[in-house]
Amino acid sequence: MSYTVLARKYRSKTFDDLVGQEAIATTLKNAITSDRVHHGYLFTGTRGVGKTSSARVLAKALNCLESDGPTAKPCCACESCLRVAEGEDIDVIEIDAASNTGVDNIRDLRDNAAYRPARSRFKIYIIDEVHMLSTGAFNALLKTLEEPPDHVKFILATTEIHKVPATIVSRCQRFDFRSIGVEDIAGHLTSVLKKENVEADETVVRRVARLANGSMRDGLSLLDQLLSYGGGRLAPEIIEEVLPAAHDETVARMMAHVADEDAAAALACVEESLGAGQTIDRFCESVITHLRTLMLLNLCGADTEMVDVPVAARDEMASLSARFDGATYTYMISMLEEVRRSVRSSNASRALLDAAVVRLALSRNFSQIDALLDQIESAAPSDAPAAAQPKPNATPAVARKPTPAEPAKAPRASARRPAAPARNRETAQPSRQPSRPRATSGVSSADKSRIGGDPRVQKAIELFDGSLYNVERTPQTTPPPSDD
Ligand SMILES: [Zn+2]
Repeated sequence: MSYTVLARKYRSKTFDDLVGQEAIATTLKNAITSDRVHHGYLFTGTRGVGKTSSARVLAKALNCLESDGPTAKPCCACESCLRVAEGEDIDVIEIDAASNTGVDNIRDLRDNAAYRPARSRFKIYIIDEVHMLSTGAFNALLKTLEEPPDHVKFILATTEIHKVPATIVSRCQRFDFRSIGVEDIAGHLTSVLKKENVEADETVVRRVARLANGSMRDGLSLLDQLLSYGGGRLAPEIIEEVLPAAHDETVARMMAHVADEDAAAALACVEESLGAGQTIDRFCESVITHLRTLMLLNLCGADTEMVDVPVAARDEMASLSARFDGATYTYMISMLEEVRRSVRSSNASRALLDAAVVRLALSRNFSQIDALLDQIESAAPSDAPAAAQPKPNATPAVARKPTPAEPAKAPRASARRPAAPARNRETAQPSRQPSRPRATSGVSSADKSRIGGDPRVQKAIELFDGSLYNVERTPQTTPPPSDD
């Protein structure tokens, strides 16, 4: 007998089996018992959270032959229930929109929908990954979805709701499936292991549940992998030996080190991830994705729907996201994208990546240098003719010219911390030091102490072991050590 993967073998059979989606199960059950079943449902959520399972349970509930009408407790034993569970029922038609994207597929569906079901109460169309349909196909679907024959029900499922036209969404009853919590996944895995007569250490189960990232199917697939390795017992050693290093976990850890400005620890994470088989290209990609998530959490709020973060991880990520600001995020993302493109053609790709990670860890310092330069720039002397006064951003200062190792420009701190208007300084700046033209020329002592008092500027000065120079005004001198 062939082996059935756990995800199929232990697929939820009834509403009560749906792990982590209790609210949806209750709503659907109530709809059936109160005879308020809609003709179109839209299930959305990430992969492996129970959309297809729920669609099949609903189909069974509507068509179970053991009952006189739709029932919240399908028997799971009649011909209809059994066939639906396998996805092979004659009246419950499952369509994978990813491979049936065309308008012709939907026209066929429409024509078929006109015929009554062969043996059941309803003809039910389950369209998976519905966002993959072409525009023409969506349009063809629209009319049927609006006023289907009485014997037809639609259950649409998608992982990318934003790609489904509003006209479709508004004709369906929408259910948002949540990522499944670690606790729920761990609980289900434990019960599966018990049924499989496998002894498992709890740390292994928890670890698998965390790696599953909110997807029950991913969790069960991992368990399959472990079982084929470990036989009848899942001991803790197996974690190190078999479980794939969770790349996104490593990336998340790396970003925490970056926030701590701990370049060495961040580099260790790079080593770990590449050592586990990740390519440099893919590594950059996952860091960029992670940064985008953090940026949106930071700018749009911790409960934003624009990112897909498991509930369990949301708080932790939200607090990490607060440790950078918008300008730093844009800097980091564009810098990494540049690195990702250049590593493909470079023989020193690993060095480029390592340098980029160090740069990430120090990105706040780069912002500080720019802040420093901005402040000095705006503190230029008032007695210079207005025409000679450099406009902000007009002439790039020597030290700010991007070097080859600095693909993207560090964010100008002025964006979030505007320097005081230059006009205010015209009155407050008498003290130029003609004898030492290099140092702090054009910066009043009041300005100097104000700028120098800023802890971030202090840190930048310490870091580069220098003092306040106005590089705009002393192009002949050697620029202070720049950021590479
Ligand atoms: Zn049945």
